[in-house]
Amino acid sequence: MKVAVLGGGISGLSAAYFAQQKGAEVTLFEKEERLGGWMNSATDPFFFERGPRTFKTSRSLELLDLILDLGLKDELIVSDENAKVRFLYLEGKLQRFPKPLFSWAIIKGLLREWRVAPFPGDESIGEFATRRFNRAVADRIFDPLALGVFAGDIYKLSIESCFPFFKQLEREYGSVIKGMIKQKKKKKRLPIQGELFSLKGGTKALVDALASRIARHQRADVISLKEGMVETTQGSEQFDQVICALPPKQLPRLLPITMEEIEMRSVDILQLGFKRDLLPVKGFGYLVPTCEGKQVMGCIFDSSIFPQQNRSKEETRLTVMVRPNQNTMEAILKELKEQIGVTAKPDFCALHHLHEAIPQYNVGHRERIATLKEQLPPWCLLAGNYLTGASVNACVVSGKKAANSLQLPVSTP
Ligand SMILES: Cc1cc2nc3c(=O)[nH]c(=O)nc-3n(C[C@H](O)[C@H](O)[C@H](O)COP(=O)(O)OP(=O)(O)OC[C@H]3O[C@@H](n4cnc5c(N)ncnc54)[C@H](O)[C@@H]3O)c2cc1C
Repeated sequence: MKVAVLGGGISGLSAAYFAQQKGAEVTLFEKEERLGGWMNSATDPFFFERGPRTFKTSRSLELLDLILDLGLKDELIVSDENAKVRFLYLEGKLQRFPKPLFSWAIIKGLLREWRVAPFPGDESIGEFATRRFNRAVADRIFDPLALGVFAGDIYKLSIESCFPFFKQLEREYGSVIKGMIKQKKKKKRLPIQGELFSLKGGTKALVDALASRIARHQRADVISLKEGMVETTQGSEQFDQVICALPPKQLPRLLPITMEEIEMRSVDILQLGFKRDLLPVKGFGYLVPTCEGKQVMGCIFDSSIFPQQNRSKEETRLTVMVRPNQNTMEAILKELKEQIGVTAKPDFCALHHLHEAIPQYNVGHRERIATLKEQLPPWCLLAGNYLTGASVNACVVSGKKAANSLQLPVSTP
C-alpha cells in the first residue's frame, strides 16, 4: 500500500513512522529543507529551542514510548528540581506560586467553588473559571495558564477542548478543588523520575531519529490533492492513502471540504544568552496575566530547567514570549528589567516572529473538527496539532492514530 504523508512536523513524522511500521510504503512530503516544523533546536553559541522544549512526564507517555522505541533512552534528560518553582508577575511584582493564591479576591473564589453546580456544556475558559470561582481567579490564574499553552484569549478558548482535565474534575467530583485533592492521592507510576523531560540534543535529536527511519522523503510543496493523486512542485504521484499533517489553513485549498477557519495565533520570542548567572531566582519561569497590560506574556528560564543543556556552569538562557506587535528588542528588554531586574547586555540575542504558530481551540472546536472529519474523502486521514491537543505528545498520538486507521485500498472494477 502506497501512503503519502504531507507535512514533516512532528505529526507527519510520527504518522510516517507508524505507517511504515504497519508495512505501508511511505513517502513524506515537506516543503522546507529542514524537517520538524515547529520543533527546531539551535546549539550555537547557546542551546535554544525555538519551539517546544519541555514535556510533562505524566502527560507524555506516548511521546516517551516513541523516544524509547527509537533507541533514544540515553538521550533523555529530566528537569532540575528548580523547575517545580513557578512565578506570576502580578500587581507589578514577581510572586512565587502559591503566594498569588493568598489574596482575598482569589480566596473568595476558591471558597465558593465547592458549592457551584456543574454545567454540562462547553464554555470558554474565562466563563468556566468565573462561573465556578470568580473573575479574579479567571484573570489571574486561568488566564496565565492558557497563555502558557495557547498564547490565547480565555474568553474565546474552549475549556472542554483546551483543559478537558478541569471539566472532567467538575463532572466527576462536582468540584475542581475536591477533584484535584482526590487525584493527588492517586499517584501514577511513571516510567521516569522528573516532572518534565527533554533530550540532551533537544527536540532535534527526536526529529533526526525519526527522519533516519523514514525510507522516502521528498522536499516538495504540495499544490493539489485529488483522489490520492498528490501534485507537488516536483511532479505528481498516485497514492492509495494520504495522511495530511499540514497546518489547518491548507485544508480547504487541497480537499473537497468547507470548514470554519481555525484561528492560529502568532507569537514573538526573544532568546537571550548571558555568559554568567544573573537570574535573581531559580525556577521554570514566570507568566504575566493579560490584565497586567504588558507585551511580555511570560519568560522561560531555560538554563535553570535543563542545566544539562548549558554550555557552561554559569550561563543564563532565557526565552521571552511576547505578544506580536512590531516588538523592538529595546522595548522587551525594558519590560524584562522591570519584571526580573535583568539589566546586563546579553552575549547573544535573537528575536523571532512565529507566524500562525499556535492553533486556538475556541468554543465549539470539537464540533468544528467533527464536521471536518465527516467531509473527508475515504482516501484521506488527518493528523496535526489542531485536532485533539497542541502538545507534542498529542501530535504523536494523532500521527499514530492516523497510521492505525489506514485502510487497504478498495479495488475498483
Ligand atoms: C513557541 C512554541 C512553543 C511550544 N512549546 C511546547 C512545549 O514546550 N511542549 C509541547 O508539548 N508542545 C509545545 N508546543 C506545541 C508543539 O510544538 C506543536 O503543536 C507541534 O510541534 C506542531 O506539530 P505539527 O506537526 O502538528 O505542525 P507543524 O510543526 O506546523 O508541521 C507542519 C509541517 O507542514 C509543512 N508544510 C506546510 N505546508 C506545506 C505544503 N504545502 N507542502 C508540504 N509541506 C508543508 C510545514 O513546513 C511544517 O513542517 C509549542 C509550540 C510553539 C509554536
